Amino acid sequence: MKVGVFIERDGVLNQALVERSQQVSPLSPGQFKINPAAAGLVRKLKAAGLVVIATTNQPGLSRGYQSRRALDQMHAQLMKAVPLDEIMLCPHDETDHCPCRKPKPGLLTEARYKWQLDLDRSFVISDKWPDADAALAVGATSLLITSPWLGNAHHDLVLPDFPSAVEKLLQLHTTPMVTLA
Ligand SMILES: [Zn+2]
Repeated sequence: MKVGVFIERDGVLNQALVERSQQVSPLSPGQFKINPAAAGLVRKLKAAGLVVIATTNQPGLSRGYQSRRALDQMHAQLMKAVPLDEIMLCPHDETDHCPCRKPKPGLLTEARYKWQLDLDRSFVISDKWPDADAALAVGATSLLITSPWLGNAHHDLVLPDFPSAVEKLLQLHTTPMVTLA
């Protein structure tokens, strides 16, 4: 079994836009600004043997304001710039009641089978509370980055920024498990 790291796309791997105190997703390649630190940080996670997967809720696909072609172009840019194993997305709206829209953990459980992951030992990095809820639902550890979107729900760890979240994750991952004789 491998260990996975699920990283929220908007606000972590790429800049999120903020409108009326809400994060909104970039809708076109021209608006899509990849975090310049992301490639080096993901490379460190890969070097530690981790499977690194970006996750994102993109309800604009279901609601009709995000074109699939523009999204595919943005994701091609992201895969080219950052050594991710995969980008997994939920295309649904709340009213679709799907199992994959975060805070539901459907993307994580789908990845468990596809990548043979031990979710108990896996991690989630995000700047928003729904990812921490999804992590909790499957027994993964959440590392949240300080932001206005953390909410009051369960948080495992809160770090000041993406680099310190990666550093803490690598410490937790490499600390040998205590084994009982
Ligand atoms: Zn969904």
